[in-house]
Amino acid sequence: MASAPQVPADDHTHSEWSWDAHAGSMAGSCARAVELGLPAIAFTEHVDATRWVLADRSREELVRDRHLVGEDGRFDPPPLDVDRYLASVDDCRARFPQLAILTGVELGEPHRFRDRIAPLLASGGFERVLGSLHSVEFHGLPWLVDDAMSSDGPEDATQEAVLRSYLGEAAAMVADLPDEVQVLAHIDYPLRGWRGPFDPAAYEEPFRHVLTTLAASGRALEVSTRVPLAPEIVAWWREVGGRAVSFASDAHEPSAVGHGFAAAAEMVEGSGFRRDRHPHGFWHR
Ligand SMILES: [Zn+2]
Ligand SMILES: [Zn+2]
Repeated sequence: MASAPQVPADDHTHSEWSWDAHAGSMAGSCARAVELGLPAIAFTEHVDATRWVLADRSREELVRDRHLVGEDGRFDPPPLDVDRYLASVDDCRARFPQLAILTGVELGEPHRFRDRIAPLLASGGFERVLGSLHSVEFHGLPWLVDDAMSSDGPEDATQEAVLRSYLGEAAAMVADLPDEVQVLAHIDYPLRGWRGPFDPAAYEEPFRHVLTTLAASGRALEVSTRVPLAPEIVAWWREVGGRAVSFASDAHEPSAVGHGFAAAAEMVEGSGFRRDRHPHGFWHR
């Protein structure tokens, strides 16, 4: 009998079918997942609709790489090519029979685009559906978080202000997610660009508000390893009644798949969550 897997499934990765995964490779990520002994991998490709305000540097990058900027200088999100994406999943399932490969989407700001997303969710049969927030509003405009925090972001967009605004909007989003969404992705997204030390206790109240809203909705909290999620936040998740946890490298290239999963699994187990009896199920309390 095979022994239980030591690492969780990677429930949040991107391949060449995501507009920002320049080095993405679905087959390469599957090969890496097999090498690491992951029980499963989900390809949760980006589906965005918000026309983000961009700082000069990202605008230049987006124009150069993929022509994803409109006449007004704001982000023009491209559609996901669902048919070719699903064909690529089929191909990888045939090539890697030892690995469970799950289909998925990462919906950016889905509470603002419910009607536009509905047909995609109805037709795709996606096995992992993540709800994500990547932007914050300043002066009535949706800034990409990374850009709002950069030196050419709005003057009042300090990293502290961005995080508070982000958590407020995340709670509003969670309260208004389409039924198909199973997981809140990267609750701490602004920390990816954080400068200096970060103390979760200084933001306990807004984090708890998001977590309480999420627990009431019955969805899972994502434990991302991109910036390792603070153990305090997972402990609060358990305290407010959160039931399920998913694990996420948010890899945009094969080498990042499953990154930091052993440490994350240990931390989550220490917070009172247990692996599911199905190797690719969410972990539960
Ligand atoms: Zn994301
Ligand atoms: Zn992602």
